[in-house]
Amino acid sequence: MTDLTRLTADEIARGLSAREFTSAEVTQANLDRIAAVDGDIHAFLHVDADGALATARDIDDRRGKGEQLSYLAGVPIAVKDVLATEGLPTTCGSKILEGWIPPYDATVTAKIKAAGLPILGKTNMDEFAMGSSTEHSAYGPTRNPWDRTRIPGGSGGGSAAAVAAFEAPLAVGTDTGGSIRQPGALTGTVGVKPTYGGISRYGLVAMASSLDQAGPVTRTVLDAALLHELIAGHDPMDSTSIPEPVPAVVAAARRADVKGLKIGIVTELGGDGFQPGVRARFDDAVELLTSAGAEVVEVSIPSLKYALGAYYLVMPSEASSNLAKFDAMRYGVRVPPAGVDDPSAEQVMSSSRDAGFGDEVKRRIILGTYALSSGYYDAYYGSAQKVRTILARDFAAAFADVDVLVSPTSPTTAYPLGEKLDDPLAMYLGDVATIPANLVGIPGLSLPVGLADEDDLPVGLQFLAPQKADDRLYNAAAALERLLEEKWGGTLLAKAPQLEEVR
Ligand code: GLN
Repeated sequence: MTDLTRLTADEIARGLSAREFTSAEVTQANLDRIAAVDGDIHAFLHVDADGALATARDIDDRRGKGEQLSYLAGVPIAVKDVLATEGLPTTCGSKILEGWIPPYDATVTAKIKAAGLPILGKTNMDEFAMGSSTEHSAYGPTRNPWDRTRIPGGSGGGSAAAVAAFEAPLAVGTDTGGSIRQPGALTGTVGVKPTYGGISRYGLVAMASSLDQAGPVTRTVLDAALLHELIAGHDPMDSTSIPEPVPAVVAAARRADVKGLKIGIVTELGGDGFQPGVRARFDDAVELLTSAGAEVVEVSIPSLKYALGAYYLVMPSEASSNLAKFDAMRYGVRVPPAGVDDPSAEQVMSSSRDAGFGDEVKRRIILGTYALSSGYYDAYYGSAQKVRTILARDFAAAFADVDVLVSPTSPTTAYPLGEKLDDPLAMYLGDVATIPANLVGIPGLSLPVGLADEDDLPVGLQFLAPQKADDRLYNAAAALERLLEEKWGGTLLAKAPQLEEVR
């Protein structure tokens, strides 16, 4: 019998409708896989076996009665622990929300439930999505299934590792500066940050509201497109949600044709500081695109050199304000100050926040509060917002000449656990290629394009497209994926020897 955990979401959907197996069987297979490997990988913070199986059985029942179901009905999914799930813990990887069970669903969660996808559980993440390695989770790090001594990327390392280790065929992540795409690159999975406003942020616990966006984490481009269409769409509960039809990303993924497509290599993203093996796989992939009829040119976006600096002002500024609500009064842990009888509310807030937040979160709250303080606001936050405007203008100019832009997703492959934990700046530099898309609201997709020669670890190539042109990403990425699979004789993950070890 086929190992059901190895199937793509599209294969599962087809198998379910052809009655080759049931959703309960697929869901159980994934739960068994989680039980077998997650002690090592630690992709999940919470597994909901009963809930997932109940949904699966309900879908099997309804299918049996001939009910019209959504295409992905019965395909199990994992959800990053930053999205509210009614009845299931939602901790954002933080001690301050330990034990919190939301009384409502995020719109993304509600759509997943309405479509009948069994939710396997909630995935590990850096605390409040702050980090690039998942080591800032208050519940311990996630390990990279390709090499368990290494990080899986972050902040959504849990979602990416769950998909890469065949614990779930699909996962949802969120991306504020690269947290879907960079873990995608480091684990050999497909990760998409849709256009800002394409997917509702209602119920997504905010880190930086003008940058956050939820999106798919999968093993194939088509799977990502199927999940994208399921969770996207206008939501009156999110004032920044785009009131327009969702781009036809599934059709684009099926088209997979780059003939005549104009592709721009971003000069500033790929030179100094990029690992040679990353650059080599990127160059090979670009050559494949050229051989398939794409026209490839170099494009310079000079203002990119200010993007990382601007991000690390805008993001902490917004985060410091968003995190003010964790005051131990309304929800979350309450830690009274030691040795104080009859403490004031302020003292309780202070001691609770001190105990509940980790170092990285505190660092960013302090940075953001400083950047927003009167006297410094114009110099820091104000300047960063100006950089955003210039960047948006420069990207618009670039897209006047090309259909999509490409760069390596991450400057390096997965590094050893602990290597950058005490050097926040070194860790921040890993986001250099992904954060520009968040600053200007454009969509980005990371596709695995091979293994670096020096360490045999996955490398990702990032496609970027103009706002609301998410379909272009899926078309180009699906075309490249097809060319790579022809070359490899299968998918990269299916061939990963390291994954056998964790069976
Ligand atoms: N790694 C980036 C940061 O630490 C991005 C995080 C994210 O996208 N949530 O801010």
